[in-house]
Amino acid sequence: MDDPRPAPTPSALTAPYWAACARGGLAIQRCAACARFVHLPRPACPYCGGDELPFTPVRGDGVVHTFTVVHRAFLPGFAPPYALAWIDLPEGARVFGDVTGCPPAAVRIGMPVRVHFTDRPGFGPMPHWRPL
Ligand SMILES: [Zn+2]
Repeated sequence: MDDPRPAPTPSALTAPYWAACARGGLAIQRCAACARFVHLPRPACPYCGGDELPFTPVRGDGVVHTFTVVHRAFLPGFAPPYALAWIDLPEGARVFGDVTGCPPAAVRIGMPVRVHFTDRPGFGPMPHWRPL
């Protein structure tokens, strides 16, 4: 049965991110000029305007900055309730994703989490976060 959820559509800008996921890791843009991590992917650094932003592997752990629990599905294929969160990485970037591996009601601000990947049939590995 086909998965009705929309799949990511990698662009030239985001393809390295998804390629890292396919290798089982997380990679975030890092500005070659000011060394800050940048996410979501951008063509130029929001801090200094630098336009060299190679994707750089990160450890894949972080802390929940904030989150919401979704109780209503607006698209077919999603199974609420589920938790969506902004995750602060120790490298300085903030990434977005769902928190799995615990009940949504157990997610807390400040909770340590680690990335993991599940295979999305027809697309490939997709990142999620779960409590440490
Ligand atoms: Zn920069």
